Amino acid sequence: MTETKMHLIGWEQLQASTTSVFRAAGSAPREAQLIAEHLVEANLRGHDSHGVGVVPMYLKGVRSGGMVLNQSLKVALDTGAMLICDAGQGAGQVMAHDAMALGIERAGAEGSAIVSLRNSHHIGRIGHWAEQCAAAGMVSIHFVNVVAGPIVAPFGGTKSRLGTNPFAAAFPRADGPPVVVDFATSTLAAGKVRVANNKGVALPPGALLDNKGQPTTDPAKLFETQPGSLTTFGAHKGSGLMLACELLGAALVGAKTQHNAEAEAVINSMFSVIVSPERLGTAGPFAEELEAVLGWVQSEGNVKLPGMPELETREARLRDGLPVDAATLEQLEAAARGVGLGGFA
Ligand code: NAD
Repeated sequence: MTETKMHLIGWEQLQASTTSVFRAAGSAPREAQLIAEHLVEANLRGHDSHGVGVVPMYLKGVRSGGMVLNQSLKVALDTGAMLICDAGQGAGQVMAHDAMALGIERAGAEGSAIVSLRNSHHIGRIGHWAEQCAAAGMVSIHFVNVVAGPIVAPFGGTKSRLGTNPFAAAFPRADGPPVVVDFATSTLAAGKVRVANNKGVALPPGALLDNKGQPTTDPAKLFETQPGSLTTFGAHKGSGLMLACELLGAALVGAKTQHNAEAEAVINSMFSVIVSPERLGTAGPFAEELEAVLGWVQSEGNVKLPGMPELETREARLRDGLPVDAATLEQLEAAARGVGLGGFA
């Protein structure tokens, strides 16, 4: 495999171009801006799988009716302790933002809140939502299911059954960036296989099975007519967490699960638990204990805290620009022309 050429683009330009594309596609200004900010932030933090490269997929979703532009979040049930919100396949960057804002407000008043976001279009990098909670001083955990056609084989299986069902958690710190745990339950996020395929690079061993259930490192095997399957991380442990995301994110609250849904776009449902240490009166001792635990965990060797690699990448990319591979840029140009613009960047 040969690597393709990379272009370096400034984040402001990428954000402006992405905003223009969604404005041209029909998004109101706030929606276009929230989508563009979220996607460029994913690129800045090194998760190109969830960056502007998804724009063509989103526009395909708009055309198929799988992504509904300018949707408003609806609260379907409010029991006090739990809010169930319907997203109606609206733009995930708006739906998740508004659901988290409701949860933050509730947790601020009651000490904690469970927020369920049902049937949203793709909500992107889940850490973004945990960071929104952390910025408001909240601890949060998030279990997410993905309905986009099965793509991950459960441990012991040879065929895909569920999505890459991500998990995230964030812990705010008094003096410094939050600890952000945020990953897919597949060994690799599907978008990372797309990026590897666009770049023409092999995958690490153990991440992919071909359509016969045999291990392969060729990313193209995921995009064949009879596609292969991603594996779960950590063998049976990741497989169990993937299942918990499906059950909590969707089955518990009547959202779409993978096994019985049509995949006309990428649909996410998210189960979030948001806790306010401030409201519980434990903020002081929690902040102290958090720092003590983090110091202990980092006291030997070269241990990075979750969330730190993303911040290192962010600093470098703010300075140097965002690398976009030639294949992705071509797809973005075509997507921009498809909504009537002269080009993308
Ligand atoms: P990943 O494998 O890159 O893991 C990221 C996590 O590991 C982060 O918390 C990061 O800080 C931490 N980390 C990385 N290197 C580390 C190190 N050396 N030491 C300590 N911690 C380290 O993530 P992924 O599984 O490829 O997921 C990428 C993104 O895709 C995530 O943001 C996830 O939310 C998103 N995703 C979204 C969907 C969806 O449907 N919306 C589906 C799957 C994944």
